[in-house]
Amino acid sequence: MTAMIEPRVEILAVGTELLLGDIANTDAQFLSRELAKLGLPVYGHTVVGDNRERLHAALTYAYTKANIVIAVGGLGPTDDDITKEEAAAFFQREMVLDAESMARIEQRFATVGLPENVHKNALIPDGARTLANDHGSAPGVWLQDGGRTLLMLPGPPHELEPMFENYAVPFLRALTRTSTARVFVSRTLKFIGMGESRIETELKDLFAAQTNPTLALYAKVWECHLRLTAAAANEEEAYAIIEPIAQEIYARVGDYIYGEDNADLPALVVAGLQQRTLAVAESCTGGMVTSALVGVPGVSDVLREGMVTYSNDAKITRLGVFENIIAKHGAVSAECAAAMAVGVARTSGADIGLSTTGIAGPGGGTPDKPVGTVYIGLAKRRENTTDTDIVVYDTQTLALVLPGERNTIRERAAMQALNFLRKAI
Ligand code: ATP
Ligand code: MG
Repeated sequence: MTAMIEPRVEILAVGTELLLGDIANTDAQFLSRELAKLGLPVYGHTVVGDNRERLHAALTYAYTKANIVIAVGGLGPTDDDITKEEAAAFFQREMVLDAESMARIEQRFATVGLPENVHKNALIPDGARTLANDHGSAPGVWLQDGGRTLLMLPGPPHELEPMFENYAVPFLRALTRTSTARVFVSRTLKFIGMGESRIETELKDLFAAQTNPTLALYAKVWECHLRLTAAAANEEEAYAIIEPIAQEIYARVGDYIYGEDNADLPALVVAGLQQRTLAVAESCTGGMVTSALVGVPGVSDVLREGMVTYSNDAKITRLGVFENIIAKHGAVSAECAAAMAVGVARTSGADIGLSTTGIAGPGGGTPDKPVGTVYIGLAKRRENTTDTDIVVYDTQTLALVLPGERNTIRERAAMQALNFLRKAI
């Protein structure tokens, strides 16, 4: 493909439901993020309704700013899906049937029969190329017209995101490759227990000095991702540019990093347990810890059981927590968390017990124990006790005050419990 010196991208979302506020333009957010990762500058976001004239005007204006327009939505076969037809008109092309797309669609509907109009998904502007849709019927379309590029992607995020990553990125890379070929690589460091602003503070100088690699911080519900992206002549060099900065980050805040890239916290816990068995007793998290663990294939080798012991009575009768502990320290206390962990390990016969107890709110907080107070308990059966009749457990607890509304607190507590266990095993 011909080299383009200065790529400038415009994202053009098509859909009246966006203008009515029925849905948010999350596709544009996703694309902007991914384009930044690729080093492609985005010059603007536009939203336009399902209307041919206004779409025509939006395309005209977009190409005054940009040479690559990414149009999102309106690729389907219904009457309000106008993007492809208008693109064809805009570039004065006929609509033609793309045989490969038609074959894919026929295969997709082989067992149920072709729905009416679905063949329209295989119509594309003459001279355009398609991008396979692995999760839906409407293919993406790539149209090159002199120095202008139009990439059309389907609206549903679960269709758009994999299509962009798997098929559009290689096109964009080829299009924007200059004589000094550059590749971009990223490493994502995943943090738990340290919020966005604290990470920024701890790494202030690195953020201020960033050029290559660049640093991008993304706050999620219970974790933060820090993406380091470097550009170089080849992948090896790019990774070598990232390495010293990554090492510096680990030296400062490595305690809060649970993994990188595709690391999955529950999967790390399951792997870390090896052959040791686990039982979980949950109060405020109500089964979320167990549920996250059960999401990991192969967990049956290590997970004995998960109990939701919500009331004081359940903690006492099911887990054998002494009434005294609750009377003296309260059900939300380090003492109760430790007793719950021991109790669930003992009653299940597991090697390790894990527990959560806390105040998720909105009510129930006190000056001493505000909403968000959570205790996590961990009990490990001691290996080499001399008297074989007596089983001894070593306990550890973690006290947290988590921000957020009820279910955010619960999710954060569940993942913090898994991370506490990850560090202890
Ligand atoms: P389909 O073949 O499913 O009709 P399409 O490409 O025609 O796909 P639209 O009809 O415009 O896409 O939108 C389908 C759905 O995709 C919307 O109802 C919405 O859920 C989602 N969607 C569309 N545009 C966006 C956007 N910009 N951001 C996030 N979601 C979007
Ligand atoms: Mg549609």
